[in-house]
Amino acid sequence: AAAAKLMGLDPNIVEALRHPERIIEVSVPVKMDDGELKVFRGFRVQHNSVRGPYKGGIRYHPEVDMDEVKALATWMTIKCSVVGIPLGGAKGGIVVDPKELSVRELEELTRQYTIALADFIGPEKDVPAPDVYTNPQIMAWIADEFSKIKGKNVPGVVTGKALEIGGSEGREDATSQGGVYILEEWLKGHDKKPSEMTVAVQGFGNAGFHVARLLDEAGFKVIAVSDSKGALHCEGGLHPGEAMDCKTEKGEVGECSLAGQSCERISNEELLVLDCDILVLAAMENQITAENAGDVKAKLILELAYGPVSPEGDEILESMKIRVIPDILANAGGVTVSYFELVQNQSNYYWSSEEVQEKLKTIMCKAWDAVYENAKKYKCPYRKAAFITAMERLADAIRVRKGD
Ligand code: GLU
Repeated sequence: AAAAKLMGLDPNIVEALRHPERIIEVSVPVKMDDGELKVFRGFRVQHNSVRGPYKGGIRYHPEVDMDEVKALATWMTIKCSVVGIPLGGAKGGIVVDPKELSVRELEELTRQYTIALADFIGPEKDVPAPDVYTNPQIMAWIADEFSKIKGKNVPGVVTGKALEIGGSEGREDATSQGGVYILEEWLKGHDKKPSEMTVAVQGFGNAGFHVARLLDEAGFKVIAVSDSKGALHCEGGLHPGEAMDCKTEKGEVGECSLAGQSCERISNEELLVLDCDILVLAAMENQITAENAGDVKAKLILELAYGPVSPEGDEILESMKIRVIPDILANAGGVTVSYFELVQNQSNYYWSSEEVQEKLKTIMCKAWDAVYENAKKYKCPYRKAAFITAMERLADAIRVRKGD
């Protein structure tokens, strides 16, 4: 709302974007292994399609609810618009703890959910993708079931598929790679070199590990990484691949000692306020809050996770002139390569890993330029600038469609 006011946005357009275009709630019957029938609740919120077909992940989680899915669908609309890809926003979910299901039950749940949504999804309508506790196997079941219903192969009904069935090169580390491209652009604009930058990374899952690895490869000095149990701090820098091997062996990264380096175990809280230049947040939401924002020493924060800085934390960081590259820009590399996957599926022509990287870099750099220009123009933090960039494009699309 503050950003909309700052840019003088037409209140009718704000109102148009406040509500989803369509909300779908389905019940998903599954015959469990013990022979009983269980019915799960599923959602799909299609927030906005003025810029293109709906796009967004599906999460399987015991606490997922309609309000959360609505909010996340809205963020997808904004995220796709920030990076300028011709897609809208959606999100889906099933209320389930997938760890409690057998593989067969999970497959049936996924296939039944696909049947329930079959009229509403498709490459030109709405394209789901993996999200919390969903993965390429689940995407394969959706693509298979949907193709059966349509009587033809439709790989573009979902993205995040395995390469064998029409996935894209580069999807695995796309979110992290997109964030690294933005960091590199930021440094160029501030006359700094990666080798001068120390980085702490919170989170050592898919996004956290790959971002640490890619930053190390790009010449940044990664000095700390963490998982949910604790963190490892090596003042002289660490090798993320080695840390991952050790984590796999010992079960937690904080327990590791790396060859020829002096490392210490620290807590996750200590990692967040470590003396470093860049802090990458790749774990959970609400990590930097009113409580600890005042102690942050990094000069720049990259939000690879969703909402890792709370609104109160954000205000404190702003008053301390600590810059935040916001989630809607920083983690948009994932959906961008999803878009590439869809384009490749629709043309049945597949790109090399180099082509994917080059195209991802072009899109991320262009998005960064647009956000940076708006930050200067409106004299506001990057978060607001990213939001304004997205809203301008959405407002233009609405205006052009309506012909004024
Ligand atoms: N779930 C991911 C996200 O929220 C991926 C979305 C997509 O690729 O469509 O960005």
